[in-house]
Amino acid sequence: MTIGITPESQAQPQLAVSEAMLYVLFDKINQSHFEGAIPNSRIKWSDRIGNGKNHRYADFTVFQDRQFVPVIRLSKNLLANETTKKISEVIFHEMIHIWLWNNGRSWGHTPDFHEKAKTFNFASLELT
Ligand SMILES: [Zn+2]
Repeated sequence: MTIGITPESQAQPQLAVSEAMLYVLFDKINQSHFEGAIPNSRIKWSDRIGNGKNHRYADFTVFQDRQFVPVIRLSKNLLANETTKKISEVIFHEMIHIWLWNNGRSWGHTPDFHEKAKTFNFASLELT
């Protein structure tokens, strides 16, 4: 039996924004930019993306039959030390995809997508 305690020496690099805070940002963006229309989602830091030649900040997964909630993964490698504003903008980007999908629209980087992306307003999150 293995006990899941990480020795101090192997601790993960300090994240500027905790996973709990990612949910706070998600909720604030949902209320301020989508009138709360984005379905509950899982949002987490990932070691698997944004490494090596892949400069992807984040990705998302949705499930056509809605058996599982959407998942947003953020690159720990590329974003761990970024500002809250930058991280919020990346979350917003992924949320636009989910919003379009949830509304039955094309959810790529369409004109609709870019139109929505222009509305990002960090101040409206009212983080203090
Ligand atoms: Zn995208």
